[in-house]
Amino acid sequence: MKNGKCPRCGSDKIYTAENLPLKGGPFASNAIPVSLTCLAPLDNYVCTACGLVEHYVLQEEKMAEIKRKWRRVGAANESTED
Ligand SMILES: [Zn+2]
Repeated sequence: MKNGKCPRCGSDKIYTAENLPLKGGPFASNAIPVSLTCLAPLDNYVCTACGLVEHYVLQEEKMAEIKRKWRRVGAANESTED
């Protein structure tokens, strides 16, 4: 969806507001808890043709924190490399 095309309906009417003030939302309603002291604000992408919404974590430091703190899903190896 970040490439500007809707994966559901194929429309190119995709909108986002990456630099929205307080994009984490009131009381961090538009953010996900990463760890006890870390929240990752989400960037929303909306298709105005079908209404599909996708959320992305786009801050590199939050990605790094997630890789440190979270369990990698489905990986056969339990190592922590990228
Ligand atoms: Zn769509």
